[in-house]
Amino acid sequence: MSPSPTLYRNYVDGRFVESAKGFPNISPVNGTVIGTVCEADADLVDRAVRAARAALAGPWGRTTPAERARVLQAVADGIEKRFDAFVAAEVADTGRPEHQARMLDIRRGVQNFRTFAELAGQAGGECFEMRAADGDVFSYTVRKPHGVVAIISPWNLPMLLMTWKVAPALACGNAVVIKPSEETPGSATLLAEVMQEAGVPPGVFNLVHGFGGGSAGEFLSRHPDIDAITFTGESRTGSTIMKAVADGVKEVSFELGGKNAAVVFADCDFDKAVAGVTRSSFTNTGQVCLCSERVYVERPIFERFVAAMKARAEAMRIGYPDEDGVEMGSLISHGHRDKVLSYFALAREEGATVVAGGGVPQFGDARDNGAYVQPTIWTGLPDSARCVQEEVFGPVCHIAPFDSDDEVVARVNDSRYGLAASVWTRDLGRAHRVTRQFDVGIVWVNTWFLRDLRTPFGGTRLSGLGREGGRHSLDFYSSTTTICVNP
Ligand code: NAD
Repeated sequence: MSPSPTLYRNYVDGRFVESAKGFPNISPVNGTVIGTVCEADADLVDRAVRAARAALAGPWGRTTPAERARVLQAVADGIEKRFDAFVAAEVADTGRPEHQARMLDIRRGVQNFRTFAELAGQAGGECFEMRAADGDVFSYTVRKPHGVVAIISPWNLPMLLMTWKVAPALACGNAVVIKPSEETPGSATLLAEVMQEAGVPPGVFNLVHGFGGGSAGEFLSRHPDIDAITFTGESRTGSTIMKAVADGVKEVSFELGGKNAAVVFADCDFDKAVAGVTRSSFTNTGQVCLCSERVYVERPIFERFVAAMKARAEAMRIGYPDEDGVEMGSLISHGHRDKVLSYFALAREEGATVVAGGGVPQFGDARDNGAYVQPTIWTGLPDSARCVQEEVFGPVCHIAPFDSDDEVVARVNDSRYGLAASVWTRDLGRAHRVTRQFDVGIVWVNTWFLRDLRTPFGGTRLSGLGREGGRHSLDFYSSTTTICVNP
């Protein structure tokens, strides 16, 4: 946790900038104010976009992929040097277990920069040969950055998701303006410091803090001089941003919400499936877009599976981020807890059986002022229930029995979302048959959350637009010009 109140400043054109307006950063662990965030107004956002544009006209605009790869590696080195500070910032903002921030969030931040440094040089063009009347014609493509890329990111995995976009955007030669979530200013501010220390030229990386509508998020997405926008967050916000950029016909990439299914077949490795689904439902206090909120279990093992999940949920250690053995932290904020608790109440109204949790844990200490909820399991709801259709984004899942492959495929696809799914079975033939029928961006078999960063990532329907990851990121963060040469 942050030892003293912090001032989270904007970073524009290579300088840290304060602003007249600020808002408190509140610890979700105990409700105390841990810092003040400088809110960027429209003028500062405009300065950030102009600084990015100017940087593209300078030496950054003439860098080669190999030079940019060196810059990205220097940024990765810089994060590693200040690894503990990043862990502390991420933990202070989110209340997550420290070991998670260490093993996942900050480590992935480093990995994102190293991965796209390695990939930067591989984004070559294409060349085609054609016979014309007066000889052989060659058509080839050259790849160029879009220009100024706006990056708007959420609070749930702040460092991981922000760097997932900053790294490929810079690898392709763009200049960026990033707007992290108002809930998580810490790691983004530290990243700006690392950018400065690594010698990233002024204007190439800009950071503006603030809220969404009527604040920095809206000012940035509506700015006429951005060339592309990449956004991770709620589907509703994605839709608002899409409208904001429609007149300018800007490039967009959206990674949005999910209501993901886990499908457990009777032939699974039972203990592995229970552990896997517990993890996919409750990791990060259920605040991962990929978390399973709908669990379908083949009828012969349904009762046993529910009982095993209940035992796991009730034994889960909830607590301070630095406590030994802590498995689950707080939710991101008291506001988000109100939303999650409203679904806990709605589930009861809709007729759910509350198998585990469903309330707020009592600690008898300062954590009672934090934003904690219990890991929660429901059964007995119809697939049409709002609690089975709407994304809660908390540590909760509904478990339902199923009887056949066709039935479960139809039920998995009965959603407005299409982000991810997981399947637990020993029968890989069945896994192949079933998984390809799911209308989602990624399906895991006998695992969850495992990512090869070179693979495409994104969702269908309300879960997003476009794919990022590996060369798909390079495709999104650059555009091509085709040159046709007649001898
Ligand atoms: P959110 O949409 O509320 O906010 C995300 C970002 O958008 C924040 O920086 C916010 O300030 C900004 N914003 C809000 N309104 C805006 C507006 N009108 N114009 C411009 N910017 C605006 O999302 P959140 O609550 O921070 O994150 C949780 C959501 O993100 C969940 O729905 C989750 O599923 C989704 N998510 C998706 C993925 C994915 O890869 N598909 C990954 C992580 C999170």
